[in-house]
Amino acid sequence: MPELPEVETMVRGIRPSVEGRRIVWVQACPCARRPMLIEPPLEMIDRRVRGEIIVSVRRRAKRVLLELGSGDTFVIEPRMTGLMLLNEPPSEAHLRVEWRLQSRTRGKPGPDNVTHLWFWDRRGLGTIRLLDPDQLEEALGPGRLGPDALETTDEQWQELCGRTTSAIKVALLDQKRISGIGNLYASEILHRSGISPEARACNLKSDQIRRMAKATIEILNTAIRYEGSTLSDGTYRNALNKSGGYQNAHRVYDREGELCLTCERGRIIRIVQGQRSTFFCRVCQRKPRRG
Ligand SMILES: [Zn+2]
Repeated sequence: MPELPEVETMVRGIRPSVEGRRIVWVQACPCARRPMLIEPPLEMIDRRVRGEIIVSVRRRAKRVLLELGSGDTFVIEPRMTGLMLLNEPPSEAHLRVEWRLQSRTRGKPGPDNVTHLWFWDRRGLGTIRLLDPDQLEEALGPGRLGPDALETTDEQWQELCGRTTSAIKVALLDQKRISGIGNLYASEILHRSGISPEARACNLKSDQIRRMAKATIEILNTAIRYEGSTLSDGTYRNALNKSGGYQNAHRVYDREGELCLTCERGRIIRIVQGQRSTFFCRVCQRKPRRG
């Protein structure tokens, strides 16, 4: 968790309040938990970004990017439990970093033209980095991250499947091949495509791959419209601390033992692939024949 739809929701949630604003300062919040990874050290970041304008807020795979007028970019990776928030944090104790922002118009900072932007993280496995343009290219360029799952062309899909003998579920999670999909949406995408998660990627037929490409776009876009999935642990929230709604549309994820909603014959089973749980229906998603 957070995957592409949740991170896209964070980006859309904070963008109107953050884009075009000047950074007053950035500081660590008083947090007694194990420190999270911040590079370079926050005092150094603060010196480098004070007075800079956040010119754009965008998403790259499962990361939030704040691009500054200076050319530097904050790369914020929520990983397991990180959130970008404008107000009402779920708990004060897990606030990690605050950006204090001022509106672009001149004048004394007051309640009307000051914005707080927070990074909140219960487990603290998220990361915040400030990168210059070369470091950004190195960290997030095509060598490190495959095409975004919402922008992957049919040709790229055929290529990424054809080049690996791994199980398709495992291939979908490999961010170097295609970026943005995580464990939850991979199970949902394969279910909608009627493809077994155990099928070898390179054995898929072109029409199966086209179906999977279409299911990916449909599922991710619908999940964005619902502002992501808030699972039973309740951790994921949008920028205003509201839960997402797509968890109610899950067909297989975390439904082990339940009757399949699609065929109403099979039971959802859980297997482990690459140390991660996969949920699927053997009736809808037949195991490929050997050979
Ligand atoms: Zn089924």
